[in-house]
Amino acid sequence: MAKVMAVNAGSSSLKFKLFEMPEEKVLCSGNAERIGHEDAIFGMKWNGESEKKVLPILDHARAVELVVEAMLEKGIVKDMNEIVAVGHRIVQGGKYFSKSELFNEDTEAKIESLIPLAPLHNKAHLVGFRAFKKILPNVTNVAVFDTAFHQSMEPEDYTFPIPKEFTEKYDCRRYGAHGTSHKYLSEMGLKYLPGVEHPRIISCHIGSGASITAIKDGKCVATSMGLTPLGGIMMGTRTGDLDPSVMNYLCKCTGKSVEEMYQIFNKQSGFQGVSTVSNDSRDVIAAAEAGNKDAQLSIRLFTRRIADFIGQYYVRLGGADLIIFSAGIGENSIESREDILKEITPALGLSIDYEANKVRGKEALLSKPDSKIKVVVIPTDEEVMIARDTFAFYKK
Ligand code: ADP
Repeated sequence: MAKVMAVNAGSSSLKFKLFEMPEEKVLCSGNAERIGHEDAIFGMKWNGESEKKVLPILDHARAVELVVEAMLEKGIVKDMNEIVAVGHRIVQGGKYFSKSELFNEDTEAKIESLIPLAPLHNKAHLVGFRAFKKILPNVTNVAVFDTAFHQSMEPEDYTFPIPKEFTEKYDCRRYGAHGTSHKYLSEMGLKYLPGVEHPRIISCHIGSGASITAIKDGKCVATSMGLTPLGGIMMGTRTGDLDPSVMNYLCKCTGKSVEEMYQIFNKQSGFQGVSTVSNDSRDVIAAAEAGNKDAQLSIRLFTRRIADFIGQYYVRLGGADLIIFSAGIGENSIESREDILKEITPALGLSIDYEANKVRGKEALLSKPDSKIKVVVIPTDEEVMIARDTFAFYKK
């Protein structure tokens, strides 16, 4: 038995989950939010109990200290040396990483060199890594990349049709995101495909951030997010794919800079922008049901973009054996799943049990036996994937 920590450090947050491995038992989990503020929030759950407090957390180093103090105080560990390894989620692994890697000096330097491709994320991951390393200097550290699973794409799936010079000089290409989740889902999905020799899976990770991935024989062949997590389907506040001239046109119309417009595409678009109600699908659905036309349009737009990608990947995979729904909306929104399934059913020959679809946050089979493609809900678990990869390095 060994205790392994999975860490997800964001620009102003630090999420953590401690596992007993190889049992994959969760010992505690928590989150430091609003790091950098006097009124930051620290929360932890353990053994059926939970605690949340507001206090100053001025940097990530302090957040890590709080994690350690809380775990010792609650008796989750008696000594920090019980933690044998720490796995860190890294958003951007660029062209360097097609699997998880030991977090040594070389890995650290490569993650640093990739900061231009994920400015907020990679910088924050390094801050988190360094803060943990200070407190636990001798443990195995592992970097688990969101992009790694997508490195198996072929050049015609990841190359943008821009001048070759830009592709090569600036490594400007599709990297995708949510790879750890899509990998987990595709592995979990296999149990629905006994005897299928070359499983073809369309995995829909639909939360505030959302991406769809086509997986063949356990490998990603195509994914909807692009250079950054802004691309692909419409999301809570992000546009997803746009005609690139929209940027140029709107900058000219509004007098805003490219950077300002880029922020608007990231933070004020998607559900938020189209509905003008909220970035949260629950609020948007409620407004639509109350007759709000903008909210209704935003839902139709969201549904159709997802259906478009599922159709595209059905062709890319030469058919499909399994469609998986996951993440905040995919796991919980009965309405969104129903909308999407109704949109794709005629073309794909699905047969759906809409009573079985009335499920939230639980694994479920939604398709009937006569459906041409099986459809399931599988709650995602990125942290357990991080813990698994990290534990594997520790055992080596
Ligand atoms: P992220 O991890 O990308 O921040 P999540 O996966 O947590 O996002 O997904 C957030 C989305 O999930 C929100 O749009 C929210 O409305 C939706 N969601 C969460 N819980 C529910 C629920 N019980 N019913 C319907 N939608 C939900």
